[in-house]
Amino acid sequence: MERRNIAIIAHVDHGKTTLVDNLFKQSGTFRENQRTEERAMDSGDLEKERGITILAKCTSVEWEGARINIVDTPGHADFGGEVERILSMVDGVVLLVDAAEGPMPQTKFVTSKALALGLKPIVVVNKVDKPDGDPDNATDLCFDLFVSLDADEEQLDFPVLYASGRDGWCDETLDGSRENLHPLFRKIMDHVPAPAVVDKVDEPFTMLNTLLDSDNFLGRILTGRIESGRVKVNDSIKALNSVGEIVEQGRISKLLSFRGLERVPVEEAQAGDIVAIAGLQKATVADTLCAPSVSDPIASLPVDPPTLSME
Ligand code: GDP
Repeated sequence: MERRNIAIIAHVDHGKTTLVDNLFKQSGTFRENQRTEERAMDSGDLEKERGITILAKCTSVEWEGARINIVDTPGHADFGGEVERILSMVDGVVLLVDAAEGPMPQTKFVTSKALALGLKPIVVVNKVDKPDGDPDNATDLCFDLFVSLDADEEQLDFPVLYASGRDGWCDETLDGSRENLHPLFRKIMDHVPAPAVVDKVDEPFTMLNTLLDSDNFLGRILTGRIESGRVKVNDSIKALNSVGEIVEQGRISKLLSFRGLERVPVEEAQAGDIVAIAGLQKATVADTLCAPSVSDPIASLPVDPPTLSME
């Protein structure tokens, strides 16, 4: 199955939850009996009740036989290293901006990290149905922002889609047919590279643990993108901290993949997949989970607090 791993960067209220909900609906990801009004990226009461907040962070949609994993990014820079770790799971970003407000200073830090990692953004100018929107200006402001953040030529040549996430459509032009969100699915498939894992699948298993969560039934749950190799339920693994010390050894008791809003158990996963692993009790964020034979952690990412001012 073709895969894409993306992150969405958006200022609060620019319409991320609404857009993702409609992507779900239009991809048919919601099961018949699932309440579509459950909002995808808000950690609602239901999730809290179950002790699952991770659903809010990773979701996936299927479109024309491909799986698109969507990772939420923090909307601000409070957690220096977290932004990098989250962005290191993906191969592309969607920058969602309100047509009236344009890009906001609070998303500048996350955008700067995405550009520094070489990710090529897709800009979605949202809420173009709003009478006070100025989509062209919002697009220009994104360009200016990218220039100020030292974007390269390719990044500056970003594709733009105009959207009303609420009304469930987007288009490459402002006078397009406004039918559905398929142009965004298509743009993600065309513009975002597939995970570069061809040479890595036969290497030993490694994964940088990016998100930590706990579940009443499964205990500690470690989520990240598999960097190399394959894993199966019951495999022996260990956790290394950033200087290569063994934190813990154990077995995978449960391996979960993301399907829509749910995590579903899978038997096996491989490099490029974003998965959640249960079975370890001490391993934490920024630890490397790996096969017993591995001795080097995945190159540690900076965990210093960000220095960029928020203006
Ligand atoms: P988030 O904070 O980025 O997740 O934003 P939400 O999806 O919760 O949306 C914030 C507000 O903007 C809500 O009141 C939505 O109804 C509204 N909204 C979202 N998308 C659109 C849109 O395309 N057009 C208009 N006019 N309003 C929208």
